[in-house]
Amino acid sequence: MKPERLDKLLAAQTPYSRKDVRGLVRQGAVRVNGEPAKAAEQKIDLERDRVELFGNPLALTRFSYLMLNKPEGVVSATRDGRDRTVLDLVPDELRRDGLFPAGRLDKDTTGFVLITNDGAFAHRILSPKSHVPKTYRAQLDLPIDEEIIRRFEEGFALERDVACKPARLRVLETGAQEWVEVILVEGMYHQIKRMFEHFGRRVLALQRVRMGALDLDTRLAPGQCRLLIPDEVAKIT
Ligand code: URA
Repeated sequence: MKPERLDKLLAAQTPYSRKDVRGLVRQGAVRVNGEPAKAAEQKIDLERDRVELFGNPLALTRFSYLMLNKPEGVVSATRDGRDRTVLDLVPDELRRDGLFPAGRLDKDTTGFVLITNDGAFAHRILSPKSHVPKTYRAQLDLPIDEEIIRRFEEGFALERDVACKPARLRVLETGAQEWVEVILVEGMYHQIKRMFEHFGRRVLALQRVRMGALDLDTRLAPGQCRLLIPDEVAKIT
């Protein structure tokens, strides 16, 4: 595994910024393998090196898990020639090699995107076999009825060879353009929009509000992201 810079690691996994870490290193508050850290840029091998802050050992990990509140107009990719990507929204102090969005939201969909460098975890939460529910709020151009709710609950064929697994659907706010909640355990291309289109409804707005049992943090303004703590990561699966 590639060694990582001490300041990047600490900024990504402690409340301190990279600038704070430089100060802490100068003060001698950071020790590596029992010796004061030589420089903020010092390379750390996560499998071998022991890092202490103010005398307390740190459990530094290879992986980061970030929650992003995705705004409209941003694509769920690591790089794009034309549009801003979800990775462009990750502030410098949280950037690490290998980060990618675990699952895609459409460009006009907003809400919870998990960004991580843990490929096995991403695979686990995205695989329909794992049944990790993803919860969305959608605004529709026309009201739904009991029949649509029942068909969502049973699962139905979107197209000849494309079957949707059972999904939960309920009305949140009635009205001419009502808001509904949809819970899916899979994530096919434009799935929710296509599911409603099947019943003659158009999705006017779509937001992902929860992954597994972890809610989108409403303190995150659109475009903001933050690190998840291990308890929060565990709530996703
Ligand atoms: N379903 C959609 O249609 N779009 C999304 O972005 C997510 C789920």
